[in-house]
Amino acid sequence: MMNETSNFIKTIMQKELETGVVDHILTRFPPEPNAYLHIGHARAIVTNFELAKHFNGETNLRFDDTNPVKEDAEYVDAIRKDLEWLGYTPRIVVYGSSYFEKTYEKAILLIKKGLAFVCDLTQEEISEYRGDDKTPGKDSPYRNRSIEENLKLFEEMRDGKYPNGSKTLRAKIDMASPNINMRDPVIYRIIHINHHQTGDKWCIYPMYDFAHPLQDSFEGITHSLCSLEYEDHRPLYDWVINNCEVEHKPRQIEFGRLGITNMIMSKRYLKQLVDENLVTGYDDPRMPTLVGLKRRGFTPNSIKEFILSTGLSKINSTVDYEMLEHFVRDDLKLKASRPMAVLHPLKVVITNYPEGKVEELTALNNNENEELGSRTLTFSRNIYIDQEDFIEEKPNKHWKRLSVGLEVRLMHAYFIKCEEVIYNEDGSIKELHCTYDPATKSGTGFNERKPNGTIHFVDAATAVPAQFNIFEPLMLDAKVSSDNFKERMNPNSWVKLNGFVERSLIDTKPLDHYQFVRCGYYVTDYDSSKEKLVFNQTVSLKSSFGK
Ligand code: ATP
Ligand code: MG
Repeated sequence: MMNETSNFIKTIMQKELETGVVDHILTRFPPEPNAYLHIGHARAIVTNFELAKHFNGETNLRFDDTNPVKEDAEYVDAIRKDLEWLGYTPRIVVYGSSYFEKTYEKAILLIKKGLAFVCDLTQEEISEYRGDDKTPGKDSPYRNRSIEENLKLFEEMRDGKYPNGSKTLRAKIDMASPNINMRDPVIYRIIHINHHQTGDKWCIYPMYDFAHPLQDSFEGITHSLCSLEYEDHRPLYDWVINNCEVEHKPRQIEFGRLGITNMIMSKRYLKQLVDENLVTGYDDPRMPTLVGLKRRGFTPNSIKEFILSTGLSKINSTVDYEMLEHFVRDDLKLKASRPMAVLHPLKVVITNYPEGKVEELTALNNNENEELGSRTLTFSRNIYIDQEDFIEEKPNKHWKRLSVGLEVRLMHAYFIKCEEVIYNEDGSIKELHCTYDPATKSGTGFNERKPNGTIHFVDAATAVPAQFNIFEPLMLDAKVSSDNFKERMNPNSWVKLNGFVERSLIDTKPLDHYQFVRCGYYVTDYDSSKEKLVFNQTVSLKSSFGK
């Protein structure tokens, strides 16, 4: 399944296995449980799991929960469900916080080696002292505290003697380093807060850059894969690994982040959309979250194939949204049945069809895959067709649907000919009066004349009312700017239509997939009920992508 041509990490792993640098592959996916996962995370998930799988290795799920301020157990559950939905089973599920004690011991070790010190500078002062790209940093006045004093102060920090922000533990590296991450980075901070996993046990928390390499090492991770923004942190990652006397040395490799046109992807902004009620929730079908994509009708397989098709390189890339659509069509083409739905109903009375008669017709569920079996449709005097399949004014020769005087085939049923348009008092169309030809019944091989096209319908006598949610991208611009994304939201991103579906869908369940003939791919929504079925459009039938 792994993309052969453009996966540089696979090449690295292959080489390391061949030369004995490693003898197995163990990766990890380390989400911070502070939001729902989005499709960008899917790149990290698929990359980690598929690479490991390729080499008969495994992947850990590790919740990076070292920043309790923004985290919540709700997200832990959501992330576990997302992973399960994608079809990946981690070797183990762990919390970064379960290593707090071991991480603390490594901090003590650094202090004892003279490689860490307790600093009393405030956060603002630390930034000031840090310098910038052009200016080297200045040593903290607390940098030369004795080992004994540091040990004592750090222990007191742990014991809760000091308020938030009053002290930090910092690695003693190099305030003149060209890499700002190496200028005596903070590795522990004081936060008096209840942690979702460890409760009140800790009031000091390790920083990501210190905790992460240690966690990778404790677990025996061979390759720690992360997105490109961590490239500048790699020297610090290696510094921690090389100075903390760990038994196992993992290796960090960065890959490019995935962006998709017309999608805003960062957790921060998705949270704003939810918190400000600009969408209905994290699982709004327009959201790029995995729960949103699921509700929209995207399948795990389509997401995996999409991710793999984007390859993996060391640069961030933005992929056209249509490519994602292409993969879901591809996945559902032969798997989804193809019932009939009328989104903009127009009533048709078949005047020569006996009143009260209801006829049963048989239709294949998917004419490209007979394995999906067949179903029964009904046909009677009153039916609905789509308004878009009828034209009032005299059509030109390119019109391949219904109009007064023209005959079309009703899919799975008969030819009907439009005789007359019946109007309401306000001049709008009330219904069409048509006649049918009993000799033209579908399946009888009738071929004496050609109809002016084929349209679909539902039988009014048995049809079930349904709401159809039709979506467009949430964002108007292909390249979304985080500065003004709220002003650039598409006002037409969610249109609701009320129409009908055929009777066979009455028992549909949330997340059932369909291709509504001539309309597109749809999925049953969570809000669907027998009284009112609700379907979300996953994707239209055609796109220009790949053609
Ligand atoms: P965001 O930037 O959206 O807020 P994050 O990177 O802060 O997300 P984490 O929970 O830290 O979210 O992410 C877990 C893993 O997913 C990280 O290794 C991160 O690099 C990766 N990841 C997140 N977004 C993307 C993306 N768009 N493309 C590739 N990998 C991503
Ligand atoms: Mg992050």
